[in-house]
Parts: sequence; structure tokens; C-alpha cells
Amino acid sequence: MKDFSKKNFIYNIINNDILKNKYKIIHTRFSPEPNGYLHIGHIKSIYLNFSIARNYVGQFNLRFDDTNPDNEKLKFIHSIINDIKWLGCFYYKKIFYASNYFSQMYNYAIELINKNLAYVDLLSKEEIKNYRGTLTKPGIDSPYRNQSKKNNLILFKKMRCGDFNQGTACLRAKIDMKSPCLIMRDPVLYRIKYINHHQTNNDWCIYPTYDFAHCISDAIEGITHSLCTSEFIENRKLYNWILKNISINHYPKQYEFAPLNLSYHVLSKRKLKILVNKKIVNGWDDPRMPTIAGLRRRGYTANSLIEFCKLIGVTKQNSLINIKLLEYCINKELNISAPRIMAVIDPLLLIINSLPKDYYMHIDAPNHPNNPNMGKKDIILTREIYIDKKDFSEFYTKSFKKLTLFKKVKLRYSYVVRAYKILKRNNKIVAILCNHEKYQTNKNYKNKISVIHWVSKDYSLPAEFRLYENLFNTANVENKVNFISYINKNSLIIKHGFIEKNINIDSNNTFQFEREGYFCLDKNHLGKSPIVFNRITNMRKQN
Ligand code: ATP
Ligand code: MG
Repeated sequence: MKDFSKKNFIYNIINNDILKNKYKIIHTRFSPEPNGYLHIGHIKSIYLNFSIARNYVGQFNLRFDDTNPDNEKLKFIHSIINDIKWLGCFYYKKIFYASNYFSQMYNYAIELINKNLAYVDLLSKEEIKNYRGTLTKPGIDSPYRNQSKKNNLILFKKMRCGDFNQGTACLRAKIDMKSPCLIMRDPVLYRIKYINHHQTNNDWCIYPTYDFAHCISDAIEGITHSLCTSEFIENRKLYNWILKNISINHYPKQYEFAPLNLSYHVLSKRKLKILVNKKIVNGWDDPRMPTIAGLRRRGYTANSLIEFCKLIGVTKQNSLINIKLLEYCINKELNISAPRIMAVIDPLLLIINSLPKDYYMHIDAPNHPNNPNMGKKDIILTREIYIDKKDFSEFYTKSFKKLTLFKKVKLRYSYVVRAYKILKRNNKIVAILCNHEKYQTNKNYKNKISVIHWVSKDYSLPAEFRLYENLFNTANVENKVNFISYINKNSLIIKHGFIEKNINIDSNNTFQFEREGYFCLDKNHLGKSPIVFNRITNMRKQN
């Protein structure tokens, strides 16, 4: 047996099970409901289940918990499969669906009725809710609770045959209406829905609830460790009750871990769906969304997301993970792999008046300062160039270290220039005139002069820069009741500027724009002009 004890508490449980020879093979699963896109919280769960199966040479199933056709869509199934493949978390060769087991589940429901452990209730949804009681008030038995077995069998079959209207009958487990655990107060096991199901079409008009379907699906598939987030702690009692009372010969065990909670983000599909439906974001793959599709479009790599999951680990204690940790993971990777280029996000024209009008010079610059293997690129300097507005100040202040009148600044890979005049139109700055220093060596200026980036006016490409910030302006937004009121109105700022011309866009889609941050090409705008870049992260402030 391998010792994975340092990984997390679940590995300790599995190690113990193996010592006791409990299972022949360790078998985990990831079981999303196909009612939305996966988010970064799901990656934590997927990676946990996948890596356990991989480490113990076991099996990892992807199973759709498709018991509620109201909200489920094929497009969500496709996106979930695509996202998991992209993450590189390989699941068992076939995909599983809870709906594969609807017939077995139906038979288990009949078995519970026959054992006098389930009954058909004809109370309305509202009445069932009122009869259930509260944490301080015990529930009241439904008048249908003590119907004969025979009657229950007839009614349940009628439900199955479509003889009831939706919402007029349901099957409930007969457990304990006074249980301190609300979930155990005769939970609903089956409800009627006249909706076509994406897998079973109109074969069924009754659908099992999540609690009934989940444990049975786990048992049928031979799952050994059923891992879920801590909001399901109470459901564990019902999970065990159902498996104990049906004739099934495999008993998976449920264990709970703390869900990922990420600062400045919401992570439930339900809440993300609200953002999409209210058009607060542009769809599930908006680069501000913490969905896998959004993070991918933003420029996060699968590797950086998995590294993030490794860093946060798995515990039982809830905590709020700082978004900066996620940014650290991608910055660390891109610092090594991303070619450097110069991009001017907010352009201001700089005319180097001391150069001839037709001045044109090739400059060799490395694609990466620390990796000569990444080769060199060709930058062109001309008399007119763009610099960034934030690198010029009309008025001198001691703290401003970039270009200002009669001060010097070094152009990256090129001359030191000195500004001498500001050209204005309608009181607005339109260009800065400067002269260059002819006889300079890098040595002369080492550490004494600021370096700014630039692009040639004539040898550059127009580009749109989408600058993203957190979607919410409060860190612990997941706990806020009215989370929508914490939306950051400046979460997307669009700028138009220029990038170096001679960059190889075909072989790279992620770059470090010097002094600005990491950016990636937006997949929805490939081949179009202007080129659209998404800002992945700010780099650490350099000045
Ligand atoms: P919904 O809001 O619709 O409940 P969800 O985001 O909770 O959506 P599910 O489909 O219910 O997604 O979850 C699938 C699996 O992912 C479950 O095992 C669940 O425990 C796990 N999961 C969901 N959210 C997180 C999270 N934030 N961190 C870790 N695991 C999560
Ligand atoms: Mg959920």
C-alpha cells in the first residue's frame, strides 16, 4: 500500500480501509447535475476524486445526476464533458447517468413500499412543507402515512402511469416526522414531472429525488468513497437509511469536505445562472466568470487550475480562499512560458523630433529575458511612436518617475529621450515632442532612469484590450443575501491601443505585455481586426 497520508484526511480514511481489506478497488465519482456550467469549485471536487482513483490505481466515474429534467440541458452535458477532458482528469471510458438506473430505482421504491417503509402522499407541496415542522417544532404525520401497503402500491403505479397531475402525489420514505434531522422527516423519494428527459425521453413521468437516486447510483456503480461537500452532512443519514433498507449488496460511504469558497466570487451554479440570465455577464464563458469555460477564455491553463487545487488542499473546515492565490498560480506558469511583447494600452503619440522623418531601425530583442531558447524578435523604431498615457505627466512631481517635460526616460530596448514640448488641441494633449540622446550606453543610466515601453506608430497592430477586475466588490460575497448588489461596475474596462507588429500570434495565444500584465487572445475574435486580448492578471506592481 502506498502511503498518501500527507495528502488529506480522505487519504487517511482510504489507507485505513485498505489496511482492513475492505475494498478490492478504490472507486470514486464526480456527479454533477447538468443544470449549468462547471466552476472552479467543481475542479476541486473533480481533481480530488480523479487523483484518488489515479493514486490508488482505481476507477473514477463521471456520472450525471440527471434526476431533475426541469433545469437540465444537453448543452450543459456537452460543456461538462468538454471541461473535464480539458482539465486532463480522465474518467472511466464510458459516461454514466443516474437515469440509466431509473428502472432499478423504481423497483427499489416498490421494495420500500412492500416493507412498509414508503407511502404515497396526496398532500400538496405546501402542505407537506407545513407538516414538516421546524428545528424547534416536530413535524406532523400526513393523513396518508398509514395507508395500506396495497393502496400505496396501487397509487404509486398510478403515478408511474400518469394518472395524477403534476404536484398532486409523491412517494415519501416513512422514517420519523419527529426526527431532529429535518431531512429524515419522511423525505420525498419520487415526484411527478411531465417533462421530456434528455436521456430517457418520455419513458417516465415520475423522477427520483437527488437523495434517492444518488446513493443507489453510487451503490450500483460500486463506488467505494462517495465524496461531497459539507452541505450534504445531514443527507448522509438518509443516504445510509436508503441503502440499509433496500436489497443491494454494495455499501458506499459518504464523506464530506469543505467546498471551495473564493474571495470576490460566487460559486454556486444557481447564482452563476442568475448572472447569466440577468445579462450581468456575457454568458457562462464570460472571462469574469469563475466557470471553467470563463477561466479558460480568460487565459487560465488547466495546469494552473490543478496547481491551485493542490495548493488549497482538502479539509473539513470552511474557509475563504484569496483570489490572489489563483492569480499567483497562473503568473508563476506564464512567467516561464509567455513571450514578452510591448503593447500600449492607452496610447499617447511621442515624436522623436531629433530623428529624420523616414527613420526606420530594426532592433533585436529577446522573446524572453531569461530564456534565450525562446528566440528573438524584431522591433521597429520610427520617429513617431506610442507610449502609454500613464507614463507621461504634464506636471512635474517628485514621486512621478516617468516622462515629464525636460526629464529623461529610456525607451525599452532603445534610446533615452527627453521631452521638450507638449502639443495640444482643444486643450487636450495630442502629442509630446522629444529629442533622443545620441551617445548613450546602458551603463550611464543604470538604475538612475526609468524605462518605459512603446510601439512604433507605423509598425504596430491595432488591438482591443479587455481589462478585467473581480466581478464583485466585497470579498465574502458568497455569504451575502443580496449578492447582486455587490457587483463591481468596473469589472470590465475596454481600451483601444497597439501592439508590436512582428509577434507570432499563430503559435502563441498568451503573452506578457511588458509592465502591464499577462494577456491572452480572445477565442471569439480570432482572425478579426482589431485583435482582442483578455487581461488574465495584473503582474506585481513594478513601480
Ligand atoms: P447548484 O448550485 O446547482 O447546487 P453546484 O455548484 O453545487 O450547483 P452540483 O452539480 O450540485 O453543483 O455539484 C456537483 C459536485 O460538485 C458535488 O459533489 C458538489 O459537492 C461539488 N461541488 C459543488 N460546489 C463545490 C465547491 N464550491 N467546492 C467543491 N466542490 C463543489
Ligand atoms: Mg449543489
